[in-house]
Amino acid sequence: MPREAYVNGRYVPHAQAAVHIEDRGYQFADGVYEVVTIHRGTLIDEEPHLNRLERSLDELRIAMPMSRPALKLVARELIRRNAVSNGIVYLQVTRGVAPRDHKFPGHARPALVMTTRQMKPHSTKLLEDGAKVIAVPDIRWARCDIKSVSLLPNVLAKQAASEAEAYEAWQVDADGFVTEGSSTNAWIVTGEGTVVTRAVGQEILNGITRISLLKLIESHGYTLEERAFSLEEAKAAKEAFITSSTSFVLAVTQIDDTPVGNGHPGILTGKLRRHYFDFMDRAGDPI
Ligand code: PMP
Repeated sequence: MPREAYVNGRYVPHAQAAVHIEDRGYQFADGVYEVVTIHRGTLIDEEPHLNRLERSLDELRIAMPMSRPALKLVARELIRRNAVSNGIVYLQVTRGVAPRDHKFPGHARPALVMTTRQMKPHSTKLLEDGAKVIAVPDIRWARCDIKSVSLLPNVLAKQAASEAEAYEAWQVDADGFVTEGSSTNAWIVTGEGTVVTRAVGQEILNGITRISLLKLIESHGYTLEERAFSLEEAKAAKEAFITSSTSFVLAVTQIDDTPVGNGHPGILTGKLRRHYFDFMDRAGDPI
């Protein structure tokens, strides 16, 4: 069965799926996206992802390409057609196709593309060793809260990580504080056992995994602070980890050349990862 994609109203073979060269996503990165986890055939945190999609679109004054129930239907149909059990749905909405001109076109219809991908579980080695991250300067724009497809700084950051044989790059602002990873949110655990992650604002994306983990942290009674932490504080932390819809909760054991804590995945990080997987096993029931 060939893999299929959904492109502007049609299910098409993935290999032949295409958009017009004057799609504004292609010309201007004038669009937004979402990545939703499929865990055991079920979409995790679908509503919060759609809320964030609507918010990103609103901020850019792009209309929803179809109603929410219709979007959900297409996602389910694509998962069914591609028989995905564990993986992701990728959903992208752009301002549409129009002759190239920076200002908004008068009549373009928002364009919608959806794909799915089956994904393997993380390797035992990654889970046992934890992830290495490197620090890079945060060179992005001032609206990182919008999940825009304009990802060049993130691409460059991840490439730098890859060349350093690291899993992720932590972006650091002009004051020396970590904003977030190139495609993940950044967390540390202090010597006192307090979980710390940056408060939301326009400097970071409010990760959906971040939001669910915050609820789990609260419901299990762990101590939490939502505040900025410096790269220096992170290197001296007891534990560190990242979150995202594809990394879930993943231990960070090295930042640049500095081991975090004892250089092994942290105990609290391990507990949080298990809580998050329990949450997914319950198919994302409200926490
Ligand atoms: N920050 C950035 C810059 C990201 O691209 C992502 C992944 N979409 C995240 C954080 C994590 O967000 P989520 O938990 O919704 O995957």
